[in-house]
Amino acid sequence: MNNFEFYNPVKIIFGKDQISKLPNHIPTSSRIMITYGGGSIKKNGVYDQVIKALEGHFIVEFGGIEPNPHYETAMKAVELARENQIDFILAVGGGSVIDATKFIAAAIPFNDGDPWTILSEKKPVKSAISFGSILTLPATGSEMNSGSVITKVETKEKLAFGSPFTFPQFSILDPTVASTLPQRQVANGVVDAFTHVVEQYMTYKVDAPLQDRLAESILLTLIEEGPKAYEDPSNYDAMANLMWCATMALNGIIRAGVPVDWATHGIGHELTALHGIDHARTLAIVLPGVWRVLKEEKKDKLIQYAERIWNITEGSENEKIDKAIEATERFFESLGIKTKMKDYNVGTDTIDTIVDRFEKRGWTALGDRQLADIPTIKEILNTQLQ
Ligand code: NAP
Ligand code: FE
Repeated sequence: MNNFEFYNPVKIIFGKDQISKLPNHIPTSSRIMITYGGGSIKKNGVYDQVIKALEGHFIVEFGGIEPNPHYETAMKAVELARENQIDFILAVGGGSVIDATKFIAAAIPFNDGDPWTILSEKKPVKSAISFGSILTLPATGSEMNSGSVITKVETKEKLAFGSPFTFPQFSILDPTVASTLPQRQVANGVVDAFTHVVEQYMTYKVDAPLQDRLAESILLTLIEEGPKAYEDPSNYDAMANLMWCATMALNGIIRAGVPVDWATHGIGHELTALHGIDHARTLAIVLPGVWRVLKEEKKDKLIQYAERIWNITEGSENEKIDKAIEATERFFESLGIKTKMKDYNVGTDTIDTIVDRFEKRGWTALGDRQLADIPTIKEILNTQLQ
């Protein structure tokens, strides 16, 4: 097992009717900014629950945060927060609202130039405004981690940052809130969480059987419960299980002491930035390609995955691996998520654009052991063309 430090300060408040407990977690004297997205919380009653719970608090609102949140939008929230001397932000939404809130929280006190440089130049975040979240979409794990992904519309860049200052103080996870999700977003959530797990698992063996089994337990639960939540988002138990899987998938626990491989996310972000494809759908395209092209390097783990997750025990090592990759694609497709670039009208010109952007940024290789170098990235995408 590799050396590790594990730190996660996020308080999770899980279950029905927990939004009413907000006053227990935010001091009455706080000057609060509520951040939210395109209005789903106004339609499904979550907004009303929040306003009722926070009666007597000073509140300003910032709505309109878009999926794949924009730097340009977040900076408007920074301005509003500064004008109102906000000292607490409450994010109400999915990963996009929570990610935007992390950036806003870090950008408000940032005094080293344009806050975009936190992403583009990896300038360190030295402080951030406190914030909490009410999660409405199980997918990203953003509710219990310190990472954030922001898009700059002007340059079509989608970049990530993280900091010890950008953990939520608390996150309220009420599965009933997710009952109004469209099926497409439930499917996205299952695939995003699944990919988070495998990107901290499908590397090389470092003799860490607990981490392996924790990862495998989340995968098996997603395969069992994900389709039930997809079929009926108001199935409380299925949604509760999906929600906790998605949180556990990216809160630092399964990555402690093991190598990781974020190549799929790195390449996927470009497909979203260039074509606006949903985050999870880009992962469903790239992930099977990464496994196909790096089959030899990931062989031991791919075989373990084939046997333990898909119960594939017959055939040669190569056959087991191929069957496991196909089973993964079938699982994604059973949730209505296509896995080939042609399904999204994306062709070879995009491969050239992505490679060009990586080279301009000085990214010569991504992921586990830096195996995904530029020729490999081309091959990965070519494999998934059709
Ligand atoms: P999202 O972009 O936050 O939300 C997608 C859509 O779902 C929005 O249109 C939203 O509508 C709607 N929605 C959310 N909750 C709803 C509900 N309860 N009922 C009905 N509609 C609802 O989706 P996401 O998948 O959670 O987040 C994706 C973003 O997170 C991407 O930018 C991705 O790169 C990032 N990400 C972050 C991490 C991390 O660790 N920080 C990890 C993976 C991905 P409204 O806008 O109207 O609310
Ligand atoms: Fe993700």
